[in-house]
Amino acid sequence: MRRRQLMRLTTAAMLGASTLPRRATAAADADVIVIGAGISGLYTASLLKEQGAKVRVLEAKSHVGGRLLSLRKLDGAPEAGGDSILGGYGRVRDVAVKLGLKLIDYEQRRSREKPEIAIGGQVIPRTAWPTHPLNLLPTDGKQEFPGRRYFEKVVDQHNPLASASDWFEPASKAYDESVYAFLRRHGWSDGAIAQNYETNIGRGTSAHDCSILTWFFRRAWDKVQTDIENVALKVSGGNQSLPEAMAAKLGDAVLLNRPVVGVRTSNTGAEVHCQDGSSYNAKFLVCAAPIGPLRSIRFDPALPPAVAKAIRLVPTMMITKVFLSARKPFWEADGLSPAMWTDTFAGEIGALRQAEDNDRVTGLIMRIRGFTSQRLDTLSEQEAGALVISEYQKLRPAAKGLLEVVGYKSWAKDPYARGTWVEWAPGQIHEFLPELVKPAGRIHFAGEHASLANRGMEAAMEAGERAAIEIMDRL
Ligand SMILES: Cc1cc2nc3c(=O)[nH]c(=O)nc-3n(C[C@H](O)[C@H](O)[C@H](O)COP(=O)(O)OP(=O)(O)OC[C@H]3O[C@@H](n4cnc5c(N)ncnc54)[C@H](O)[C@@H]3O)c2cc1C
Repeated sequence: MRRRQLMRLTTAAMLGASTLPRRATAAADADVIVIGAGISGLYTASLLKEQGAKVRVLEAKSHVGGRLLSLRKLDGAPEAGGDSILGGYGRVRDVAVKLGLKLIDYEQRRSREKPEIAIGGQVIPRTAWPTHPLNLLPTDGKQEFPGRRYFEKVVDQHNPLASASDWFEPASKAYDESVYAFLRRHGWSDGAIAQNYETNIGRGTSAHDCSILTWFFRRAWDKVQTDIENVALKVSGGNQSLPEAMAAKLGDAVLLNRPVVGVRTSNTGAEVHCQDGSSYNAKFLVCAAPIGPLRSIRFDPALPPAVAKAIRLVPTMMITKVFLSARKPFWEADGLSPAMWTDTFAGEIGALRQAEDNDRVTGLIMRIRGFTSQRLDTLSEQEAGALVISEYQKLRPAAKGLLEVVGYKSWAKDPYARGTWVEWAPGQIHEFLPELVKPAGRIHFAGEHASLANRGMEAAMEAGERAAIEIMDRL
């Protein structure tokens, strides 16, 4: 064996079998490769393309949109993923308008339901709730609807942030404690917390693993949204039409069915390896995959320790959505609202009004969150559907035999999402967020989790814009 060959073999053995394969050619396929065709990655690619850069987007799935997923087979295309485009979503609204998409306001429909309260296996009339023995709300909140509505009022009352952007100021570190510690300090019992924070939980899996600072930010940010315009917009035909239109403009720069499994970077560029054995070169790379799936990508050299630690540790919210159709409007028979707040596996049940006519209920949606979602996710789709229907029917005998599962989506089970959005645990925001918005050599980070000033879709685009600007400066 020649000496050079031997050296190559020895080096390969030392690096181990899982080392990324070397690519034969060093020529760059593109100026920038973007991993992930959600709205964040697509926005980065669009902005860079507008500036004359050659871009390539690698998407794991057979469709674009990621956490924007519209169930188009169902009446009115309800959203399995991202739902509402709020007043202050400047980037999202601007891109939608420029692409000729129509936005419909659903705000009026959202607020018209008066959900029933179902706790401990019984439906409790609203009039009986304030004095009901199962009402565990703190004394001054007994009149409130169970769940996070009263919690949000308490957050607003004690929110120390003068503006939403203050959440990221060093001084705000002092407020970064668990929701549990915050509520206990404000007199909530363990029972009140379990019933009115952790049931149908808004953020995290328990009051212990969610930072109250994220709520201070969220409530201040929510106010900005409604102050700008009190709307809850949705793209006509489904929100997924937005990433689809963005991808269409990028043309063949977007490659589907390309799960990225490995990334190698050097001083001159990045080499990206996909599961199907294909590989691509570029001068720069943007990681716009969600934080969970980044765990399954091998980086060579390894990412900076703080970034690698964040990818490993930062939790994401778990939500499973089950969509039902009803053969008859059974709520007219039992006189109750189809919408219910329950402490069962059926979670929070909402009435969908997706048709032009606001009065028509087009179906039911069950939102199952946190640990309940995790437990439901141990079942198959069919078993989960049967369980949530049986839980709902126990409370609503009039619905018996009339319900059918027509849609199901577990976001935690989706290997290319691994949850719905980033959910900072106490102490993580200031430790990790500055690292996640910083380039690591030739790698730049986008995606909803890498945003400083927004939430949801607007956060995804904000992070995508930042990554594009960083790269434009370097190209
Ligand atoms: C149930 C639910 C409700 C929501 N409600 C709202 C709401 O009402 N309002 C709001 O503003 N936001 C909401 N959101 C959040 C919003 O949908 C997201 O913030 C936004 O869509 C994220 O965009 P993104 O581009 O950062 O990530 P994604 O949309 O997740 O895109 C990332 C892409 O990367 C791909 N990918 C992952 N791993 C790899 C890999 N290894 N190789 C190649 N590609 C990969 C994925 O397939 C995906 O297409 C909700 C989300 C969910 C799930």
